[in-house]
Amino acid sequence: MNQENKIKTNPNINKLINKCELKLKDIYDEIDEICEFNSKKVLESFWNNHISEVHFNSTTGYGYGDIGRDAIEKVFADIFKAESALVRNQFISGSHALSTALFALLRPNDLLLSITGTPYDTLHEVIGIKENKSSLKSYGIIYDEIELKENDFNERKIIEYLKKHQVKVIEIQRSKGYSTRKSLTIEKVENIISKIKKVSPKTIIMVDNCYCEMVNKKEPIEIGADIVVGSLIKNLGGGMAPNGAYIVGKKELIELCAERLTLPGEGIEVGPSLGINRDFLKGIFFSPSVVKSALKTAVLTSCIFEELGYDVEPRYNEKRADIVQNIIFHKKENLIKYCEGIQMSSPIDANSLPIPCDMPGYDDQVIMAAGTFIQGSSIELSCDGPLREPFIAYQQGSLTYEYGKLAIMKALNHLMDWD
Ligand SMILES: *Cc1c(COP(=O)(O)O)cnc(C)c1O
Repeated sequence: MNQENKIKTNPNINKLINKCELKLKDIYDEIDEICEFNSKKVLESFWNNHISEVHFNSTTGYGYGDIGRDAIEKVFADIFKAESALVRNQFISGSHALSTALFALLRPNDLLLSITGTPYDTLHEVIGIKENKSSLKSYGIIYDEIELKENDFNERKIIEYLKKHQVKVIEIQRSKGYSTRKSLTIEKVENIISKIKKVSPKTIIMVDNCYCEMVNKKEPIEIGADIVVGSLIKNLGGGMAPNGAYIVGKKELIELCAERLTLPGEGIEVGPSLGINRDFLKGIFFSPSVVKSALKTAVLTSCIFEELGYDVEPRYNEKRADIVQNIIFHKKENLIKYCEGIQMSSPIDANSLPIPCDMPGYDDQVIMAAGTFIQGSSIELSCDGPLREPFIAYQQGSLTYEYGKLAIMKALNHLMDWD
């Protein structure tokens, strides 16, 4: 075997990892406990909906009478404690589902308000923050945003705003995206939703839940959100779903989303699952455990880099809202080097080098390491970052903890030039 194709075990790194794993014991126990809780939730939802082998069958063409697809949507609705769900392979991505929901809920002259500052990069052209002929803005939909304050909602400003304006939809993005803020815990989201409902009960509260599913025991519908959106090549796909996204929430809102995704008059009744039902079911089944592995990999990364003197966010012992781990490199070369290391440690395309480049929907050049079974999957171990100050790596995922740990070892060796 070629020496390069071996994982070198640097004694210093081994010692460091052992030390961190000892220190992380209680945190790992907590993560295990959440996984058990969420696994129970998933299993019971399978039982409630009598999931059976027939649900692995699929439809083609229009997709009428796709009982597997319909059962999967009931399972998702149960897990989220929502009235209804739209779980489709016709969604290209999480961003597509978010775009679909926004176009479904908003009409000309309606006001959309983000209360978590500027939304995720791919939504800029959807909303019209960046000019696009097909944006919400081009249809006369008005947009405004309120920045976070000290990593929490700016409650005073939000409430004042709602007293002055008729807001149709509020968008809350829990995970940080490519920003430098913290991701928002379910407790913080719960607090602001309860305050919003008091002053503006008719405003629809939409949560971008990407990367946050199964990280805690509660999901956003349980704490008052009206509609929740996420990707299936992240947490809830469990590494099994080959594409797709979900929207869950109030029945009337899900119907609007379905009519935007397909067409008015056919809505949720159509959409062939094209052989994907088994993978979606396996994905949701595995997701509590895959999220557990991703979380442990994130916590370990945080602990190791902190020990090595790097800035990290969140710290290993902070309460987590999502599976994303930041390492703040301050140096462009180090960000690139670490991403290279993660690519080199992947099961797929380990011999390719990630190169920073322009990406559709993103403003800065981005470097993306993802040697994944599913293209762009970020529930599989992946690491990326825009090439701008302070050169932050956004690392997330890992289908198993062991592969995550091995990858960190190899990436560290590469970063430190020990390999
Ligand atoms: C990943 C992500 C999305 C959607 O991304 P896709 O790559 O389009 O699936 C949206 N919002 C946030 C915060 C995300 O992390």
